[in-house]
Amino acid sequence: MANPPLAMLAELTHRCPLSCPYCSNPTELLAKDTELSTDQWRDIFQQAADLGVLQLHLSGGEPASRTDIIELVVAAREAGLYTNLITSGIGLTPKRLEALDKAGLDHVQLSLQGVTAAMADRIGGYKGGFDRKMHVADHIARIGFPLTLNAVMHRANLDDLPATIDMALRLGARRIEIACVQFQGWALTNRSALQPSRAQVDAAKRVVKDAIERLKGDLVIDFVPPDYYSDFPKACMNGWGSTGLNVTPDGTVLPCHAAATIPHLTFEKATDRPLAEIWNDGPAFNAYRGTDWLPDLCQSCERRDIDFGGCRCQAMAVLGDASATDPVCRKSAGRAVLDNLLAQEETPTIDVPDYVYRKL
Ligand code: SF4
Ligand code: SF4
Repeated sequence: MANPPLAMLAELTHRCPLSCPYCSNPTELLAKDTELSTDQWRDIFQQAADLGVLQLHLSGGEPASRTDIIELVVAAREAGLYTNLITSGIGLTPKRLEALDKAGLDHVQLSLQGVTAAMADRIGGYKGGFDRKMHVADHIARIGFPLTLNAVMHRANLDDLPATIDMALRLGARRIEIACVQFQGWALTNRSALQPSRAQVDAAKRVVKDAIERLKGDLVIDFVPPDYYSDFPKACMNGWGSTGLNVTPDGTVLPCHAAATIPHLTFEKATDRPLAEIWNDGPAFNAYRGTDWLPDLCQSCERRDIDFGGCRCQAMAVLGDASATDPVCRKSAGRAVLDNLLAQEETPTIDVPDYVYRKL
């Protein structure tokens, strides 16, 4: 038996009023009529709690696009789960936020597309979205939800990092996640338009280092640096099938949000098989669990039990082989492919990138 998972990401819907070109949702989005019902989610939340899950991340798309979001939070709390709502804020009225508070919602993670209306509305593809988000942020602060600001950074907004951190303080966030775009889903489609330059990345690291020292005690800063500029991969999902799982809008259970990009894996639905069986015995979860499957390069490496060979979906996306060592790794032959991509993409050739916006 595998160790129990600690966290579950419930992608309640792929619907979203925004259309960010870096959205981590798959490029084949699921339509509303495929979504699980309230009762089906209630059952999955209880199964997750029974399996050992402690934290539930309610995500999307935009989870507020579900008219039953309050009932779903009630169901999650009744199952004993800590609940975190990952939202763009669009669709959350003061009345709905108060109802979420009453339902027992523990934490809000608000996404930020930019620090000005011009930037945020361009990235989100939604005119007026920034102003609406700022109103929602005021109500989040008034109600007193613990708040994390989730700022996704890329070429167009990485130079605004100091203002982004200031905004987290202004909105009363306790934590900011500065996440440089990971190239999965729509972000992979838009990679060349989103790729930051090395100078931007170096400057961002200095800003983060300074802010961590300066704001100690006031703001927790988590920085996810851009993979392609790293020398070694990160321990994706803390190791495949080790601590977390994802459930998509139609109930498909994935080892990570991008796992469906690996074509030879077989995925099961929580409506067809008990969640515990899928976690413990599902072929997709056992495909890359642990370290036995790792290639020789990683088997003999001192970082084997630190990064577990990196990200399977990245190996798939860049090398077309999910079993390969993550091409971020300087020791891997695949690194040359990544360096070649970076050489082509890191220097912007156009001022205003022509994004492919996420569309249902
Ligand atoms: S990344 Fe943007 S488009 Fe994707 S779910 Fe979040 S707010 Fe919506
Ligand atoms: S060789 Fe494998 S285990 Fe070693 S650093 Fe590279 S990816 Fe990690």
